[in-house]
Amino acid sequence: MDTIQNDTVAQFAYNLNVDGEEVESNLLEYLHGHGNIIPGLEEGLLGMQEGERKQVFVAAKDAYGEFDPTLILNVNRESFPEDFEIRLGEPMNLRDASGNVFSAVATAVSDESVELDLNHPMAGKDLNFQVTILSIRPATEEEIAHGHLHSAGGCAGCEPEDCGPGCESGCCG
Ligand code: ZN
Repeated sequence: MDTIQNDTVAQFAYNLNVDGEEVESNLLEYLHGHGNIIPGLEEGLLGMQEGERKQVFVAAKDAYGEFDPTLILNVNRESFPEDFEIRLGEPMNLRDASGNVFSAVATAVSDESVELDLNHPMAGKDLNFQVTILSIRPATEEEIAHGHLHSAGGCAGCEPEDCGPGCESGCCG
């Protein structure tokens, strides 16, 4: 397997720069062609070879989406539990009246209301990746069937609903 194609597993090192600052530097291994990484990055990695380095620019719309001003909400301060500490600028996991959990950042707070930003923290940001391909291998049939990577220990890090017969680690349980 020479280049990254659908149903190959690639490992790469990357630095991520946003607004001219490095925000992340890491290693990632993923199954190509199954939407496991942001679409713009997946597209940029297609066809790359082992050892190849490349700058991949991903515009906001192909990364975490454009910033959506309608996702800024004002909610009544009283809808928060009394002992709940609201910290400005920090992501919080909240639960709505129907019990759905969502992530939001408080952007302003007063005695009566809290302004919440429900946008992804990276929404509206253009991402600049410097990537180096470390290894490429064909995916196993099981990985292709599950639509995600299995590490050496079997199925790992996947959602229970992704898992089928043959998943070895505890992720299905
Ligand atoms: Zn699996």
